[in-house]
Amino acid sequence: MFSPVSILVVTVLSGLMATAVLGSLLPAAIPGLGCWIAANTLAVVSLLLFATQGHVSPLVSIVGANELLAVSVMLVLEGCNRFLGRARRPLEAYAGAAVVLVSIVYWTFYEPDFDARVTVVSAFHAYLYASIAWAVLRGRPAGRPSYSYNFVSVAALLFSLGHAARGLVYGLGNPQQTDLLQVTPLNTAFMGIGILALPCMSTGIVMLAHDRLAQRLERLANVDDLTGVWARRAFLTKAQAVLDAAARNGMPVALAIIDIDRFKLINDSYGHAAGDSVLTHFAAFVQRQLRAGDVFGRLGGEEFGVLCPDTDAAQAAILLERLRAELASTPPPAQAGVAGRTADHTAGYTFSSGVDQLRNDEPLAALMARADAALYAAKAMGRDRVVVAA
Ligand code: GH3
Ligand code: MG
Ligand code: MG
Repeated sequence: MFSPVSILVVTVLSGLMATAVLGSLLPAAIPGLGCWIAANTLAVVSLLLFATQGHVSPLVSIVGANELLAVSVMLVLEGCNRFLGRARRPLEAYAGAAVVLVSIVYWTFYEPDFDARVTVVSAFHAYLYASIAWAVLRGRPAGRPSYSYNFVSVAALLFSLGHAARGLVYGLGNPQQTDLLQVTPLNTAFMGIGILALPCMSTGIVMLAHDRLAQRLERLANVDDLTGVWARRAFLTKAQAVLDAAARNGMPVALAIIDIDRFKLINDSYGHAAGDSVLTHFAAFVQRQLRAGDVFGRLGGEEFGVLCPDTDAAQAAILLERLRAELASTPPPAQAGVAGRTADHTAGYTFSSGVDQLRNDEPLAALMARADAALYAAKAMGRDRVVVAA
């Protein structure tokens, strides 16, 4: 049951299943997925070649099998690098694979030495798995849940240690073994650990791919497509979190609702695309001026919200006045030729804003209603101004 051959067969089958699961993620175009699928396929082929030892030329069953397995782990590393947005190719790994190739040829045909082969191959695998563990550990994007990244890192680290131990045992000890498929307790133990590598890494990689899909969905749900700032729902959620914190520490919180003036006129005169670039321009302009803790989002259309923790209404009004003055002296987005029109929207644009601060432990909706009323008053007073709620 636990003979090396049966272990190889089980590993091949699990490798095929893992390849099928990874293949199902292909339409999602996840970076690195191609490398990971190629790695699994090569590993399966390599294991089949290992199983032919004693029946087929050593050039195929020893040299080919070992080299394919080494390249397959290298592709896992390359896939992780691509997934994590690192373009650099692992050149030292390519050089290592070449050294492994030369060593295996030498210790197979010129001076046959099973222990030496196992040692050099194990050392290379230990290095590759350690590189994977390190790359994934430090490459986790900020703010992502750590579970899948830790899973891959810890699994890769354990396989690295397993390969290192195997290299040491065969390099220094005398395991009394002459070929890979021999049934010895030590060989069965190491292959038993090795059997876990392929399914374990594939499971971890599928977890990483799913985290990337979740990240994309969260972004779609939370970030406004056009301007890149928080969409209304995410803005309200984040604003509520600031209010909850303020309720605990008693600090003031100010809210400003901002609405671009006569925006419909911009659309009507210069086209919808020109209106869009005004929105993008405005969002980027405001974002640049805010502090790290401020929450800024698009509430809808040409209306935005800014929630400032540890700020009262008077301070928020000063901030908004500064934004208003600065916007007036900022060159507007170039609109020439936008949407097939020749008009050049160089006149600039203005905004009006209603501001107030949180009172007692009122709900967010109450604060928003007062800021909104103040905005309405600013519009009624002729626009291009900041009004603090009475
Ligand atoms: P006021 O000064 O009173 O705020 O006038 P306004 O023209 O800015 O306000 P109004 O509410 O009349 O018009 C807002 C316009 O914004 C109407 C709508 O078509 C346009 N709009 C809403 N969302 C978008 C968008 O994503 N892109 C563009 N280009 N226009 C949008
Ligand atoms: Mg408007
Ligand atoms: Mg509006």
